[in-house]
Amino acid sequence: MTTSTSPQAGTRIHTIAVVGYGSQGRAHALNLRDSGYDVVVGLRPGGPTEARAQADGFVVKPPAEAVRDADLVAVLVPDMVQKKLYEEVLAPNMKQGACLLFAHGLNIHYGMITPREDLDVVLVAPKGPGALVRREYEIGRGVPCIWAVHQDRSGHAEQFALDYAAGLGGARANLIRTTFREETETDLFGEQAVLCGGASSLVQAGFEVLVEAGYQPEIAYYEVLHELKLIVDLFYEGGITRMLEFVSETAQYGDYVSGPRVIDASVKQRMKEVLKDIQDGTFTRNWIAEYEAGLPNYKRYRQADLDHPIEKVGRELRAKMVWLQQQSADQPQSQRTAAA
Ligand code: NAD
Ligand code: MG
Repeated sequence: MTTSTSPQAGTRIHTIAVVGYGSQGRAHALNLRDSGYDVVVGLRPGGPTEARAQADGFVVKPPAEAVRDADLVAVLVPDMVQKKLYEEVLAPNMKQGACLLFAHGLNIHYGMITPREDLDVVLVAPKGPGALVRREYEIGRGVPCIWAVHQDRSGHAEQFALDYAAGLGGARANLIRTTFREETETDLFGEQAVLCGGASSLVQAGFEVLVEAGYQPEIAYYEVLHELKLIVDLFYEGGITRMLEFVSETAQYGDYVSGPRVIDASVKQRMKEVLKDIQDGTFTRNWIAEYEAGLPNYKRYRQADLDHPIEKVGRELRAKMVWLQQQSADQPQSQRTAAA
């Protein structure tokens, strides 16, 4: 456990209310407390993460009470509940001139939340999951953060964002200024086109091609899913340069001639269409409608992913990989071990 220190000299922030205690909320609350701030956690009484916040030694209050005396309120509940939380709880209870902070710009950028005129409104988004934000802080390092100012009523909004990012440990790594628009649109594009959507569809398609051609599903799994981690680790450590250093000449030649056949100009064109839907608000409008309708398509899509044959063969194969056995329900192994 890191010992408490005084907050950044000259900061105007003393009390921080962290609303939500999930992936980001827990990491932010713990790091800010260890950086010397008074942190109070706002949660619905009896909610799923209340016991965890109490076990970590926090004073937990209903959100309306938690935010009342706070100089800064960090909104770390799921994006789709932020509008209701803001309108019903934060707007009527936050003190005059306080700072409202987000870790993702979605609700501000698309106009779901129009903050009170007297508030400063800032963004601090760590470029990593909460478990890594906590772990890096504990070992004296930090996860890079991007930050932005949407509304500066006090004249100190920039400093509030920088103090908060430093309190998370981000200043030990790298802080990059952005805008709510840039953070929101690039974050959505990354997860849709490349990280979550692009990568999982690429893996499923590769698996299907091999299995439909008569190869064993077990071998297809190792080829297109399991080994992807080795490649991504090399990207992470040293970019595509490092991957090319570690694969064979045959793999490199195949990469050069076949990669662009699969991810060709038409894929790039459709990525541009995905980006356009993000930029003009189509994606977010559809997502809000889906959420308000009770997630009918979301549940169907999710079930299709869970039922894909690669999941069944994967479960059987992973049971035989002993190093994967200490999995925790709420924390991926890659985020508990080294910064993978
Ligand atoms: P999460 O789902 O892990 O946790 C949400 C928390 O909010 C939980 O404590 C939950 O009990 C609580 N909660 C849910 N509904 C609530 C309500 N109505 N009132 C009060 N509390 C409620 O969320 P997360 O992934 O940490 O995301 C929080 C924010 O951080 C989002 O804006 C997200 O976009 C952003 N973000 C997340 C990540 C990430 O790696 N998960 C990275 C960067 C930014
Ligand atoms: Mg995202």
